[in-house]
Order: sequence, then C-alpha cells, then structure tokens
Amino acid sequence: MTRGVVFAEAGARPAVEEITLEPVGAGEVQVRVEACGVCHTDLHVVETGGWGMRFPILLGHEGAGLVEEVGEGVSDLAPGDRVVIAWRAPCGDACRACRRGDQRRCSNNLRVRSRMHRASDGARLSPVLRCGAFADRVIVHEACAVKMPDALPLEQACLLACGFSTGAGAALWATPVQAGSSVAVIGCGGVGLAVVQGARLAGATTIVAVDVLPAKLDLALELGATHVVDASGGDGIARVRELTDGVDYAFSAITSVTGLADAVRMCAYGGVATLVGVPPSGRALDLDVERDLFGPKVSIAVTHGGDTVPHLDFPVLAQAALDGRLDLDRFVTSTIALEQVPDALDELSTQTGVRTVVRLREGDRKETR
Ligand SMILES: [Zn+2]
Ligand SMILES: [Zn+2]
Repeated sequence: MTRGVVFAEAGARPAVEEITLEPVGAGEVQVRVEACGVCHTDLHVVETGGWGMRFPILLGHEGAGLVEEVGEGVSDLAPGDRVVIAWRAPCGDACRACRRGDQRRCSNNLRVRSRMHRASDGARLSPVLRCGAFADRVIVHEACAVKMPDALPLEQACLLACGFSTGAGAALWATPVQAGSSVAVIGCGGVGLAVVQGARLAGATTIVAVDVLPAKLDLALELGATHVVDASGGDGIARVRELTDGVDYAFSAITSVTGLADAVRMCAYGGVATLVGVPPSGRALDLDVERDLFGPKVSIAVTHGGDTVPHLDFPVLAQAALDGRLDLDRFVTSTIALEQVPDALDELSTQTGVRTVVRLREGDRKETR
C-alpha cells in the first residue's frame, strides 16, 4: 500500500490516506521516498486554505529517496539511484532568464502532470511544489531528481531539497558572500542557521547571528557564527554595528518585514541586504531612501529558495557535508513516522528543534534533541 499525507479541503486537517500512482510517463521518474523534512511551506499551504492549489493536495516537498522506475527517454537516472527531490527545476530555455543563460533567475520550473491519486475516490492529487513527498512513493519530472552520493544519509540529504539550500544558497549563490567579509544573519531558525553555514563555507571571517532566543544563538555559535546578538532588548542593529562597524552582507531569515529594514541598517557602506524569509502580504518597508539606502549605498536583494540550480548545487552541498565543511546532521533534530505529520504541522510554529524529518521506512529514529 502507498500512503500519502492528503489535505482534502480548506479547513480540513491533513490526514494519511492510501494513494495510487499511474504508470511512469516519458521523462519522469518514480521515487520511493525514504525521508522528508517538515517545512513551513507545507503549513503555509494548510493555513492559507490551499495556497491557490487545486484540492485534494498531497503535502510534502523536502524529500529524498531511491529511484524505483524511470520513464521512456530518461538516461541519467536508473533504479536504485539515491536522489533528492528538488522543487526548483529551471526550464533551461523557455523563460527569458534561462534564454540568456541565467538559470538562477528561472521563473518557469519544469513540471509533469500529477500521476498521484487519492485511492478512495480516484481524485488527482496536486503535489505541493510539484513534489508531494509526504508519501511512500511519488512520480516527478526527471530534472527534479538529483543524484546524491551513497555516503550521505537520506534523512540529511532531504534537507537540501528546500530549507537548507534556501539558507546556504542565499549566502553562496543568491548574494555570493566574498571570502574575508562580514555577515549578519537575522533569525536563527533552520533557514537562518543554513545561511550561517553557507557564509562560513564561503569564507566569511565575521558572522554575527541575531535572534531573541538564547538556545538558537548557542546553536548558531556551534554552526559557525563568530558572534551572537540577543536582540530581545530591541537594540540588535546597534549591537551588530558595534561589533562590526557595519557588515558587508546582512540576511533576513525571518518572516517579519522589519527584518529586512533591520538588515539594511546593519550594512556597512556598499553592503547588501538579502531577503530570505517569506514575508506576509500587504506590508510596506519602512526605510529612509537617502539615509538608509543611497547615502550608505546599500542594495536590497531577494532570493527564492537560495536561487539554486539543483543539479549543479545540491551535489556541491552534499560533498561539503561529507567533507565536514557543512553540518547537515546537526539540522536533523528529530525524526517521526508519516502518521505523525499532521501533529508535526500543528506543532511547527512552536517547535524548538531545527528540523523534524519524516522517516518513511522502518529504521532507527533519532530521539528529539
Ligand atoms: Zn527558465
Ligand atoms: Zn520548504
């Protein structure tokens, strides 16, 4: 039996249901999912009543597993390959960014028609971000299945599919941090901590982590921050400027729009403030254009998912993890079974760990840290 976490309609509680799969089509691969991280975007889909998608919805988009079957014309993948299921898959030639050779700014991800159905009534499921990886098996576009080295555990590899790559990619590719520079990271949840890791990998010599929770700041120090600022007193900008005289790069990895304004004000002359966290709609940015932007020549950048090109970047991140230059293991703070996903989504906004990962097959589960 193949199970999946289905969000049936707005207001409903997501539930584990039996699902069925059509045969694999040309250019598609069937993946037996082994691990899938619980990311805020799945909760966002639930809280926004479907995020504009058609019901019923198959949740999950941070998965990794083993290729089970490949469709006609798929030559780069074979059954047994270990893969991460990427939600970004640049089109390569159909959008204006790709046509000029800039896949990081692709606005048109490759996709296939969903082949997953709800068993009870046969309804076609809409997979979140073209993945739907809270399921025992899924069928995705071949470009979304990115091969991983054998030595990297899949419960770590799955984090590359979304949260970790978003943070690390922000510092490595969206706004490439230059070696020897100084960085501030606002918000030390999973994405912010991944920015810290990416900045360290890029060779930043000063990395200031900013948060209001001491436990998160301790973790940031373990993961590469050189300084921490507890901003609960409201003087985060001043503290960062005292420590660094302004930073070359500041990243806002929180959802509040004040994070981006704070990031701008933390920058040194010529610095770049990058928006990583997804903001709520309808909010304006409170900045003095002359004093905060033009005078200090600060630029604002926005990244979606770290602007990664998964087939190029995920192997780089995986190798860095194997070499000990990134610490993916520290990001997996608990593992759960598929049946626990609805509860995990309920608890997501109050969780203290970094990332909860669903293990879809029997095996040792890590205790919650
Ligand atoms: Zn494109
Ligand atoms: Zn995500």
